[in-house]
Amino acid sequence: MDRKILLIYTGGTIGMKIDPETQLLKPFDFTQITREVPELKKFGYLIDSLSFDPVIDSSDVNPAFWIKLASIIKANYDFYDGFVVLHGTDTMAYSASAMSFMLENVEKPVIFTGSQLPIGMLRTDGKENLISSIQLAAEQDEAGHPHICEVCIYFDSQLFRGNRTSKYSAENFSAFRSPNYPTLAEVGIHVRYNDAAIYHPRRWGRPLRLHTELDTRVAVLKIFPGITEPLVKAVLSTPGLRAVVLETYGSGNSLSDPWFLAALAGFTRAGGVIVNVTQCQAGAVDMCAYANGDILKQAGLVSGKDITTEAAVTKLFVLLGQYADNKKVIEKFEIGVSGEIS
Ligand code: ASP
Repeated sequence: MDRKILLIYTGGTIGMKIDPETQLLKPFDFTQITREVPELKKFGYLIDSLSFDPVIDSSDVNPAFWIKLASIIKANYDFYDGFVVLHGTDTMAYSASAMSFMLENVEKPVIFTGSQLPIGMLRTDGKENLISSIQLAAEQDEAGHPHICEVCIYFDSQLFRGNRTSKYSAENFSAFRSPNYPTLAEVGIHVRYNDAAIYHPRRWGRPLRLHTELDTRVAVLKIFPGITEPLVKAVLSTPGLRAVVLETYGSGNSLSDPWFLAALAGFTRAGGVIVNVTQCQAGAVDMCAYANGDILKQAGLVSGKDITTEAAVTKLFVLLGQYADNKKVIEKFEIGVSGEIS
């Protein structure tokens, strides 16, 4: 039977072409994708495409966009073997992370890809990214299950777990990295799956559950030498704020100034959630390693372990949307739900 893939174009560089009149990049009609990429016909898959209207630069992505995208995937879930989401690179790691938490029990591939150069350009990376993503979204194992059954990012020959990635380069074709989790597949002459790293459901056939209640009362606060008391206090006293992702140094260490610790402790004592996430690209928070980490534990911070900021923010949106009680949010945050922490 023909594999069926739904290609969802949301915007970004990949779907742009130079307008001959203005010489500016503008999105092309994605329903005509096989005209632009005739190679797609060689697969023999049934590829339907759907375009957001309007398409957006991914810098404009917001929770309403995620709800729309997740709802499209849910509505089409039973009709397709896999989904390829064409998305700008700037916020792709946030969107892939959000989908991994909003689409609970997903058992089909949802592969985000994009490109650094538009698909119509001579040296584009968009064609390879698109063609390989479609193949990865369609492939099955010997038992007839999808080989990939999670939300991923495919870029420059590498397939990553979506909620483990961050955009790394604004320049290179190799734009994404997943320092704390191995690649799920490497695409060369052959596709080499890293089966030990790929998620496999313990039981197949669980119904897909969609979470669209997103509570965005979250702040991200990055510490730096010289950070001032009024700045920290202004953030923590934001009306209605329920959670903070605190980006700390190294293995989760911070300044030890009494005013800083008192401000954090005041927020957590009042019921707020503060997640400790490292500013480092790789490695994890360990609040037991240094005295300057232990003070944060004493101030009531939750360890984000090796979670990315992108995953921490979107996981908090979903958990805060699900639970009115912040204690429950903390309890759930500490447990990995979609392979986002080691
Ligand atoms: N600004 C663009 C976007 O994120 C960049 C890209 O597509 O790579 O939509």
